[in-house]
Amino acid sequence: MEIKKIGVLGAGTMGRGIAQIAAQAGFRVVMRDIEDRFVQGGLDTIDRFLTRSVEKQKITQDEKKAILSRIKGTVSMEEIGPVDFVIEAVLEDLELKKGVFAELDRLCRPEVIFTSNTSSMSITEIAAATGRPNQVAGMHFFNPAPLMRLVEVIRGFQTGDETVKVVIDIAKKMGKEPVEVKKDSPGFIVNRILMPHLIEAIRLVEEGVASMEDVDTAVRLGLNYPMGPFELMDLTGVDIVYHVTEYFYKELNKENKWVSPQLIKSMIRANRLGRKTKAGWYEYE
Ligand code: NAD
Repeated sequence: MEIKKIGVLGAGTMGRGIAQIAAQAGFRVVMRDIEDRFVQGGLDTIDRFLTRSVEKQKITQDEKKAILSRIKGTVSMEEIGPVDFVIEAVLEDLELKKGVFAELDRLCRPEVIFTSNTSSMSITEIAAATGRPNQVAGMHFFNPAPLMRLVEVIRGFQTGDETVKVVIDIAKKMGKEPVEVKKDSPGFIVNRILMPHLIEAIRLVEEGVASMEDVDTAVRLGLNYPMGPFELMDLTGVDIVYHVTEYFYKELNKENKWVSPQLIKSMIRANRLGRKTKAGWYEYE
């Protein structure tokens, strides 16, 4: 089956970016959210992004128009029925995702492949909500989706080889560099590597080895990372980092290395969650 039309569920931070790159790659896209204002918010962001691309002379005005014309925003789940491939990017809530996948299973043709952009949930468990677990995989994009080149393609316990091949192919067509995650394991590749780095940065400060500012400077200049660990946590949300470490501790055999440092717990209790609360490791105004 040739894939021409992609269904994107969710028009939030990730869904809108994914819908945009799919349309840029020439696919027709149906982007579905639950309320008109969310759909419109997604379409407006895509429009603004493409306007900037025209200003920077990366695309022409005609190309912008053509890309936008390939995206249909909707609140109707029925419009997802005729698509050839699905990328789910709804809220990170397992029960919600399982409900969405069960509904997709009823609506879409039996040969259609479903993928989830989940950052942490089990692909195996999401797939089990459908009658086609061999045709479900993880397709983990990074924020901002139009700019970040990596896609982690995750195999659930029952994902078929053919499914993985198709998902990798779609990711490449979207201009991404896919990597295969052979087992459905917490944090996949990137977050599994990132978390110990963040935890260790907090421990260095807790132990009084260095100041937070100097840890950030050291990582930026010594490892050539674009951002230090504390700056990064403020951007992603200190609470998100905390939830992920707690999840890793539970899922990865309660190893000591995943125990949350006391300092991050105090940050959560003080509601210093990062840029979104105007105060995290640093102050923001
Ligand atoms: P978001 O809150 O910005 O957007 C989620 C959207 O899903 C909301 O607009 C919401 O109205 C919509 N939604 C809820 N129920 C729906 C349904 N039944 N059908 C269609 N839409 C529905 O969240 P986000 O940051 O875009 O995250 C989406 C997914 O992507 C999550 O699984 C998250 O873990 C993952 N993810 C997020 C990031 C990130 O940095 N934000 C990065 C990689 C992966």
